[in-house]
Amino acid sequence: MVDVVQFIGPVLTSESMTIKVAINGYGTIGKRVADAVAAQDDMTIIGVTKTRPSFGCDLAVRKGYPLFCTFDEPSKIQAFADAGYACGGGITDLLSQCDVVIDCSPGKAGAANLERYKAAGVKWIFQGGEKHATTGMSYTSCANHTENLNAEGTRVVSCNTTGLSRTLVPLLEACGSLKVECTMIRRAADPGDSKKGPINAITPVLKVPSHHGPDVMTVRPEIDITSLAVAVPTTIMHMHAIVATLPDGHGMTTESVLNLWRQQPRVIIMNGGETGITSTAEVMEFARDIGRTWGDLHEIFVWEDGVKLEDNTLWYFQAIHQESDVVPENVDAVRALMGTEDDWKVSVNKTDAAIAAFNGLA
Ligand code: NAD
Repeated sequence: MVDVVQFIGPVLTSESMTIKVAINGYGTIGKRVADAVAAQDDMTIIGVTKTRPSFGCDLAVRKGYPLFCTFDEPSKIQAFADAGYACGGGITDLLSQCDVVIDCSPGKAGAANLERYKAAGVKWIFQGGEKHATTGMSYTSCANHTENLNAEGTRVVSCNTTGLSRTLVPLLEACGSLKVECTMIRRAADPGDSKKGPINAITPVLKVPSHHGPDVMTVRPEIDITSLAVAVPTTIMHMHAIVATLPDGHGMTTESVLNLWRQQPRVIIMNGGETGITSTAEVMEFARDIGRTWGDLHEIFVWEDGVKLEDNTLWYFQAIHQESDVVPENVDAVRALMGTEDDWKVSVNKTDAAIAAFNGLA
């Protein structure tokens, strides 16, 4: 684990109150985070990177995001011009212009970029595909925004860990302690991914417990959690089947747990029997109806009629839109690192209102 030292980096003055953000890796997560950042009135996208000219470049151009090359080699930069794209230069050129870089490169690729970010004197945010040990700091908005204030860099935890935090952290805060076992039923691949499987199998993660549950402890060590994971042939969402043990004298009921979650930002509670939303297919159809770009659902979806508390045992299911629940968290993480908003709920409200307005939904 690395030491997290106080960082002397970009400081916002009254003349430069807009945080300049770079996105390194304009893929599934990067393109979504770019839009969420662009929606905010206290942040600007300075540029996004692509490894080579490909169809993702057209999207960046259409959105008006300056395009840079992931690498500094002149031949790789020239390839963009040869393909007809205006390219602002290599990653070093991009880093020289930003306050914070959000690394959205593929899992385990990001760590190699860390020294580059340090050398450029910028703050950095990695994604859940990187290890906690790479940064020594992890982030979810509801769990540990305060700990991340003014840090040099952090890691927004994975989509699964973000989803678990959204429902478990308020429960921990209401009960004082929590022991959790959960089974992660994971989508095989993202919808745009043609290379992964399984297509006709259920594949258990044979390393038990899986890393997903324990990763919650990187943002809330007090939650005693283990998990099992299986991959199933679906692309649209993950599902969690959760069993939580509440402490003696917890004073909660099924209804009070539901009310607690109803007050929690980025959690949606719906009754499957009443709405007809009884599977991840209908959850995603509902998400497309809401009208966000790409049919995203930033919120965690909990079935009201699938929640039951009996004595000390709480059972529930939740569904996670893997491509998007971490997107607004990245925006809040920028504010935490830059020290511009101390209160996580204020940041969350600002982030979500701006994204809604960006999508024409405010
Ligand atoms: P992706 O493959 O869709 O996109 C990655 C992008 O980075 C691509 O455009 C790729 O060309 C580019 N790239 C490749 N090598 C690079 C490098 N060395 N430096 C910078 N960019 C590089 O991947 P993704 O699904 O967006 O995942 C990005 C990160 O987000 C990973 O850490 C992943 O674990 C995490 N994450 C993914 C999901 C998901 O469901 N897709 C959910 C939560 C978190």
